[in-house]
Amino acid sequence: MKYDISITKTKAQKERPADESALGFGTIFTDHMFMMDYDEGAGWHDARIIPFAPITLHPASTVLHYGAEIFEGLKAYRASDGTIRLFRPEENIKRMNNSAQRLCLPEIDPEGCLDILMTLVELEKDWVPHSDGTSLYIRPFLFGNDPHLGVHAVKSATFVVICSPVGAYYAEGINPVKIAIESEDVRTVRGGTGYAKCGGNYAASLRAGERAEARGYTQVLWLDGVERKYIEEVGSMNVMFKINGKIITPELTGSVLPGITRKSCVELLKSWGYTVEERLISVDELFDAAKSGALEEAWGTGTAAVVSPIGHLFYNGREYTVCDNKIGEVTQKLYDNLTGIQWGKLDDPFGWSVKVCEG
Ligand SMILES: *Cc1c(COP(=O)(O)O)cnc(C)c1O
Repeated sequence: MKYDISITKTKAQKERPADESALGFGTIFTDHMFMMDYDEGAGWHDARIIPFAPITLHPASTVLHYGAEIFEGLKAYRASDGTIRLFRPEENIKRMNNSAQRLCLPEIDPEGCLDILMTLVELEKDWVPHSDGTSLYIRPFLFGNDPHLGVHAVKSATFVVICSPVGAYYAEGINPVKIAIESEDVRTVRGGTGYAKCGGNYAASLRAGERAEARGYTQVLWLDGVERKYIEEVGSMNVMFKINGKIITPELTGSVLPGITRKSCVELLKSWGYTVEERLISVDELFDAAKSGALEEAWGTGTAAVVSPIGHLFYNGREYTVCDNKIGEVTQKLYDNLTGIQWGKLDDPFGWSVKVCEG
């Protein structure tokens, strides 16, 4: 089911950034945005693409008080054949609706949502940057918007999609990061909102990230919230390890975010013949492997970076170097293949890349 999208074009087109090496992440926005409102009874209505502008909220709006907000993140790529492409957008839509269910927010028709993304990206196609490694980041978000303070599942909501041209994540080459185990804060717990992509998870994880940075680490390695024993994620990425030739990644217990990059890596690795174990992995198992040399590679996965190799791990006052602080063979192969599919430079055996329009 498609939504009937009205389009109001801007009368004041913004200047597109001339220097694509200075794009950074999420600071520049395109000319238009998508918006749609939900009310109990009427359902989703007034689907519209309008000039990019601030949003007005009632001061009692649910999102401002009770954090009823979910979001997604995906990219549009300018492929080598000249087309504009998305990477597995239907996975983002599925996940957004799972997040919506968890936070009692209204779901969006999947076919209609894909049409919204395609329509907006096509309208903004000139904003998809051209340089190697750059892309147009797409940020759909959905929030509760009831104009009163009573605590209950929302009756009104708003869905918005904004787009931002972003620079190459690895403009200076792929440098491994330094990661410290977080033993105080937890990101989320089983039964909580870990598997949902909601703003609240990020709010709760910022303190640990800040502390880690102040101590000279790039990010934290999160442990489970019940036993503080099993590894869950690294920063806001999923995490994978190569131990004795096998790939191990924490299973999706409910507190781990089901990353689309994670899923794609697992599918690629299996297709290459690797044994991939999705299971609990304890911090003791990891550091025993680090001590014995069995830990060959460690990396995070996520849309922004694709993969992020881990070069140092800190735990109980000790520092362990992984893979000589270099990107490992498997990590590099995943990076090359995923980016190759995303930018249309390699075959796409799984049909992950979705054409939006000619560039
Ligand atoms: C979005 C996100 C990821 C990565 O998901 P991708 O779909 O691969 O981008 C991992 N962990 C957390 C907490 C996230 O929010």
